[in-house]
Formats: sequence, structure tokens, C-alpha cells
Amino acid sequence: MSSTSGSPGSSGTSGAPTAVLVVNAGSSSLKYQLIDVATSTTLGSGLIEKIGEPQGRAAHQGVDDTYVTDTPVHDHEEAFAVALHAFDEHGPRLADHPLLAVGHRVVHGGTSYSAPALITDELVQAVTELIPLAPLHNPPNLQGIAVALQAFPGVPQVAVFDTAFHQTMPAHAYTYAIPKDWREQHHVRRYGFHGTSHAYVSRAAAAFLGKAPADVNVIVLHVGNGASASAVAGGVCVDTSMGLTPLEGLVMGTRPGDIDPGLASYMMGVGLTPSDYDTALNTSCGLKALAGSNDYRDIEAAADGGDPAARLALDVAAYRLRKYLGAYTFALGHVDAVAFTAGAGENSSTLRALVVAGLEDQGLVLDAEANDVRSRDAHRISTQDSPVALLVIPTQEELEIAQQAARLVRHT
Ligand code: ADP
Repeated sequence: MSSTSGSPGSSGTSGAPTAVLVVNAGSSSLKYQLIDVATSTTLGSGLIEKIGEPQGRAAHQGVDDTYVTDTPVHDHEEAFAVALHAFDEHGPRLADHPLLAVGHRVVHGGTSYSAPALITDELVQAVTELIPLAPLHNPPNLQGIAVALQAFPGVPQVAVFDTAFHQTMPAHAYTYAIPKDWREQHHVRRYGFHGTSHAYVSRAAAAFLGKAPADVNVIVLHVGNGASASAVAGGVCVDTSMGLTPLEGLVMGTRPGDIDPGLASYMMGVGLTPSDYDTALNTSCGLKALAGSNDYRDIEAAADGGDPAARLALDVAAYRLRKYLGAYTFALGHVDAVAFTAGAGENSSTLRALVVAGLEDQGLVLDAEANDVRSRDAHRISTQDSPVALLVIPTQEELEIAQQAARLVRHT
């Protein structure tokens, strides 16, 4: 794992705990990572999937190997017990790594949370009240918090919100031009998601350029199964492509990104229920709708083999990225770096090349050879003299959560 440079608070005081357990509880999964924030290394990690289904799966990366067990896991409480048992059985032993904090990924913090926060009854209440804005995410996040509070009653627990980094957006970027009562009574506005990734990657891009975050403007293109772009001016997010929900913006694995708002009433007019419409937007749109797969690897292979649907899917996704790149270039006025991150952003040289093809006159000069280099480390894919640096920066959301949690705990 590469280390983050310049993160205050990541070095341990001798003898003081430096381990943070990061918990990311999804609706049917529990991801966890034990991170030593003094060295920015992962000591152990795991993923428990298909919680609540007849056959679950638990994979734990211990000290020297990965252990996979197929076993039913009924709920998040049991999943947490499975994780703790895996640490005992396969290491690293939690007794050898006293916890400085437990850091929880929490998807929606609304407008109340623009920074990580200690978990209190009040915070749990606030996250509960935000469930209507994140019905798929906040409930399992709360379950993760509840079981971790039980398992580690004496350890400070911190919520790190996906929305927090985007809270700095100016009103002209987060306001939708919709009726006042929708905005005021129903809290409809752009919130943005993937914030920990955008925060980490924009800072890492500045570090890569040898500059302080305050001295650079970066456009981050996070392209995984979910995808979002952000414009970060001097370390501060000024715009992002996801909105009230994580459906807006870029074309994603199974989500369409930007569509005409009139589509909802049109489809309901032809017989779709609101709930079917919502399910379709979340699960059967995007790359999957266009190419039959939501995985760029399959789509690229099919496009190479001459499949026109796969070709179109790639072109639509790349063109949407390019439009956001153009929009955010003007929003920022001056751009120092464009950073590609997440599954496809980090691994698909084809997609990256499509996004910036022919933009040399705009100062984005791809180095085709560098673009083909595969590396787990941050690297430059533009020519050395490209006015805008094109970078690949592997995202490290869990490390960012661990570091944010550690900083908060050490300063309170
Ligand atoms: P998530 O949003 O689920 O965290 P990831 O960031 O892990 O997603 O990205 C997963 C996606 O990344 C895959 O669905 C696939 O489209 C893409 N991906 C992963 N590896 C490669 C690769 N080698 N080449 C192209 N795309 C890749």
C-alpha cells in the first residue's frame, strides 16, 4: 500500500495506539480494514457478503493469507462477530493492536456534517433523520455503528461522511432551480458523494506535484462501479457531479447519470410505478443497459471484438466524462491536474485515452506509453511538459477514513 504524504497526525506517539478499525456497512455487506495510521498500512481486512441471504461469504485477509468461508450470515451483528472471530483466528490479533478509534463510513451527513464527527446519540439521531435522503445506505451504516459500539464500548467511534467534502460547494453549484418549498422543506439540493475518495485523491494529486493542496486546482474523475467527478480549487470542493442522490452525473455501471428530468413522468405515463422507475435507475441503466455488462473489462473486450453495443457504451461513458472535464475546467478557470481514480479510472487506459483524446490544444497532452503502464502507485500519464498534469491516483477511501478518524480523536 502506498503511503499518504503530509497527513498531520498519522505518526504514532510511542506506546499510544495507532490502529484504526474502518467499518463500511452496506445493505448486504460488511467491509472492514484494520489500519495502522502511523505507517499508513493495512494490517488486516475483510469483506462479508450476502448478509441475510441463505448463503453468505466471508473473506478475511490475515497476516499471511486470505481465508474464505461460505457460511450464512443472518445480520450485521453476526457479520461483526464473524469479522472479530477472523481476526482472532487468522490475525492480526486485535489484542496486539489496541484501537485508537473505529472509523465508520456513513453515506449521508446532510448539511449538518462537513467534517468527521464523534458518534454520539445526537449523531445517530441525525443520521436516522437523514434516512429519507439515503434509504439504501444510512440504515446499514447505522447498523454497523450499533454493533461496533457494542463490540468496542470503550473505543472512540467516528463517523466519516461521504457527503462531507462536498459541503464547501458554493450555493450556485449546489442549488437546483426548483420551487422554494422543495428546496427548503424537503432539503432538495446537490449533496455529492464519494467525498472521502475526492478528498484523498485531490490531496494526493497535490502531493504528487510537490505542492500544498491550497496551491493547486484539481479535477478528480472517480470511475468505479459508481462514478463521480469533482472540481477542487485549492483543496476545497467547488462542484461535484452527483446530486441529491448518487444517480446524477457520469454514466455508471448500472446508473444512467444525467438524464432529462422529464423522463420520470414520461415513463410513469406509460405505466411504470415510481418504485419500478427508481429500481431501474439504480440497477438496470448505465453500462449494463447499453452493453449488457457493468464491467469495463468485459465491455472493452467486446468492443475490441467488434460488438457495436459495447463500442457505444464506451463512447457514451467517455463522452460524459469529457463533458464534465470541460465543464469543470471552466468552473475552475485554471487546472493543474486531472486525476483518474477507482476501478476503471485506475485500470482502463482505453477509457482514459478516450476521455482526453485530441485535447492537446487545451493543454492536456497524454503520453500514450505512460498511459499503458500498469502500476499500483500514483503516476503521471501526461507528457512532462503537458500544461495540465494527467495523473492516475489509486484511491484509498479506508485509509482516508482511518486518518480522518485518528485526527479527530487525537484533537478532542
Ligand atoms: P466500486 O464503485 O464498487 O467501489 P471499483 O472502484 O472497485 O467499484 O471499480 C469497479 C469497476 O472498475 C469494475 O466494475 C470495472 O468496471 C472496473 N475495472 C476494474 N478493473 C479494471 C481493469 N483492469 N480494466 C478496466 N476496468 C476495470
